[in-house]
Amino acid sequence: MTRRPAILVLAALTLGLAGCTAAHAGTGKPPKPKPPVVAAAPSQAADDDGQPDPAPSSAASSGASPAGSPAGSQAPSDPAGPKVPDRAGKPVSHVTGGASGHGPFGSITTTGTAAVALTFDDGPGPYTGQVLDLLAQYHVKATFCVIGRQVAANADLIKRIVAEGHTLCDHTWDHDLNLRKRSDDQIRAELQKTLDAIHAVVPGVPVKYFREPGGNWGANTVAMATSLGMTPLHWAVDPTDWARPGAQAIINRVLSHTGPGSIVLVHDGGGDRSGTVAALRTILPNLTSRFTLIALPTT
Ligand SMILES: [Zn+2]
Repeated sequence: MTRRPAILVLAALTLGLAGCTAAHAGTGKPPKPKPPVVAAAPSQAADDDGQPDPAPSSAASSGASPAGSPAGSQAPSDPAGPKVPDRAGKPVSHVTGGASGHGPFGSITTTGTAAVALTFDDGPGPYTGQVLDLLAQYHVKATFCVIGRQVAANADLIKRIVAEGHTLCDHTWDHDLNLRKRSDDQIRAELQKTLDAIHAVVPGVPVKYFREPGGNWGANTVAMATSLGMTPLHWAVDPTDWARPGAQAIINRVLSHTGPGSIVLVHDGGGDRSGTVAALRTILPNLTSRFTLIALPTT
């Protein structure tokens, strides 16, 4: 967001605390190129209690199956006593909150295929048009996580995003970084108002993804997004472009961390995005030479 003076932004960066954009830093360190399963474990453990599970965890049951045959097939020559079916050894596949990704609270970090997805947050705004121009130039489809209160004033950009085949994602009405601390009614309103604003401009367009501001997920926000038909969308690659590290740093971080299936977080809004735009001139031709880039599917 543009309203924060540079000094405050610097202070927020220094402290590692929330700022509109700085908050992405909280969970947004560029992950090492390994499966993002680790990140999910602590959150899901906390999430396991008390949450309704609208989508029963099929993964959990499949996790038990490998233990099925060994239990009975070997002769009981082991003096250690009866073998107990292995229930505790496979908690990794537990899925909670109605979401089944490997990010916080089951949010997704990968596309599920080898295709890479670029996602643009905090628009629409003054740089969105340039981003769309570059995407068109390189024949790339992407996903735009828009802030609801910016939609009506940028209706033409929303229409263009849709007309050019990109996917829309709900990024709350006003980028509330503490959304998970609000009441369910407030959370629902943040998400629904944004959906309504989008649909006032582009009626009927599917909005199947929700991204939590700052990646500050909670079990409640994931559950609400899911109940509204949206998949919680996290990321695998975050070059922290919001901190304006310069185009070359953004380029290096994205190109070195992106692998098959990566969901990549960058920003078309929230301040001066000239560095991100400049970086895209290198990122787009490079990534398109190595991967298929997709808009996240809406069906
Ligand atoms: Zn954001």
